[in-house]
Amino acid sequence: MDYQSLIRDIPDFPKPGIIFKDITPLLANAEALDAVIKDMAAPFKDQKIDLVVGIESRGFIFGPGVARQLGCGFAPVRKPGKLPYHTHSLTYDLEYGTDTLEIHVDAVVKDHRVLIIDDLLATGGTAEAAGKLIAKIDGIVVGFGFVIELGFLNGREKLGNTQVESLINYT
Ligand code: 5GP
Repeated sequence: MDYQSLIRDIPDFPKPGIIFKDITPLLANAEALDAVIKDMAAPFKDQKIDLVVGIESRGFIFGPGVARQLGCGFAPVRKPGKLPYHTHSLTYDLEYGTDTLEIHVDAVVKDHRVLIIDDLLATGGTAEAAGKLIAKIDGIVVGFGFVIELGFLNGREKLGNTQVESLINYT
C-alpha cells in the first residue's frame, strides 16, 4: 500500500525550520488505517508479545489496534501528571532541558514481553526513554514499531539490538 501519498508535509510546524509529517490523511482513509495496523503488527506475530505500550500521543492511535492484532492488551506511556493511578517515571535529556514519561505501576507484569509503538521515530530519544522505563519496571522490550522512520536522523542507533520496524523510511 502506498502510505507515503497519505502523509502530508507541513513546513514550519510546530516551529520554524521543522517539516512535520502529518498522518491525519492516512488516518482518514479506512483501507489505509486497516492496512497500517496489520502491517505494524505483522513482524511481531511470532514474538509472543504480552503487552503493547503506546507513547503519548500518536502511539495511542496505533497501539491498541496493533495489540488486538497480536492478541494482547494495551498500556499508555504518558507525559507527567496525566495518568490517574500511581506511576513509575523516567526523566531523559532533550536537546534543551529534560522530559519525563510515566506509566502505571501495575501496567507491566515482571518479565512480560512488551512491544513499544509510536507513530514516528526521529532522533530516537522518546522511544529510548520508553524502552528504559519498561526495562526499569522489569518488562522485556521485545521491539519497537513505527509508521514512519526519519532514517537520516539515525534514531534506531539509540535502540540498541532491539528489533525496530517501520513502514516508511525517509532516508
Ligand atoms: P524523537 O524523540 O524520536 O526525536 O521524536 C519522536 C516523537 O516526536 C514521537 O513521539 C513523534 O510522535 C513526535 N514527532 C516528531 N516529529 C514528528 C513529525 O514530523 N510528525 C509526527 N507525526 N510526529 C513527530
